[in-house]
Amino acid sequence: MRPTSSAIDPSVPARVLRSARPSGTRVAVGPVEVGGPAFVVAAGPCAIESAAQAEGVAEAVAAAGAHLLRGGVYKPRTSPYAFQGLGEPGLSILKRSGGRHGLPVVAEVLETSQLAAMIDHVDLLQVGARNMQNFALLRALGKVRRPVLLKRGFAATVEEWLLAAEYLLDGGNTQVILCERGIRTFETATRNTLDLASVALVKQRSHLPVLVDPSHATGMRELVIPMALAAAAAGADGLLVEVHTKPEEALCDGRQALTPELFADLMHRLPPVLHAVGRTLHPVVSTRPAVRAVSP
Ligand code: PEP
Ligand code: MN
Repeated sequence: MRPTSSAIDPSVPARVLRSARPSGTRVAVGPVEVGGPAFVVAAGPCAIESAAQAEGVAEAVAAAGAHLLRGGVYKPRTSPYAFQGLGEPGLSILKRSGGRHGLPVVAEVLETSQLAAMIDHVDLLQVGARNMQNFALLRALGKVRRPVLLKRGFAATVEEWLLAAEYLLDGGNTQVILCERGIRTFETATRNTLDLASVALVKQRSHLPVLVDPSHATGMRELVIPMALAAAAAGADGLLVEVHTKPEEALCDGRQALTPELFADLMHRLPPVLHAVGRTLHPVVSTRPAVRAVSP
């Protein structure tokens, strides 16, 4: 029987540990490489609300140099009465908006029954904090050949987080990216507490790339840029950031959404911080929107 004192027992081969792949894992999300020397930024709304909203945000984040477009379609809301996401129609909207700007797209999968539709539309499958230990979902995602972004549960230890990733690797999916999005502590001044030490620790303990989500970690727009820069300095491989063209009208998480102007400011401020720690910003992948024919 396996000892239970340490879940990642040194006598059990753990695929997630750095010793399994000392040079580190690089995950290709379309043309975007996560986990290499370059820092990657995924940005977009918390939720896809309409085609016009998705297009407006996609255009803004692409113009500012984002590498991936995020947008929730199935939303895991605390209240059953809150906006639950557009569902399947939202998937086509997200894919179309990403495609128009050459940005691969990220969306959360809540349950295995959504996987078939999502595989056709999404380049990076997000497992949310509330699902980090949904083992049936992790097992199913272990079998797909699509990268997975595994968020840390808000009450999960680093060890539990790494073991959740182990389910994916054990299932045969090696394309795994971790995401620190803040944990619940006694502090209530911020939505969560951003555990940046866990980022530095996980980079040492595991070969998997790590993103930081400063939006859910703080819940406050004015804290997103400082924590994003701190994440870059702490050795994260990239960011997952919420952006909305009209945060005050957002159906979800407007209080933490950056405006396009603030997002552009973040993108300008990242390179010098990355330079200071020997990294660079990933090259731009977006393509300019097609020039529309002007009617006479
Ligand atoms: C999200 O990314 O919109 C989200 C729901 O995040 P989390 O699972 O970290 O709360
Ligand atoms: Mn959100």
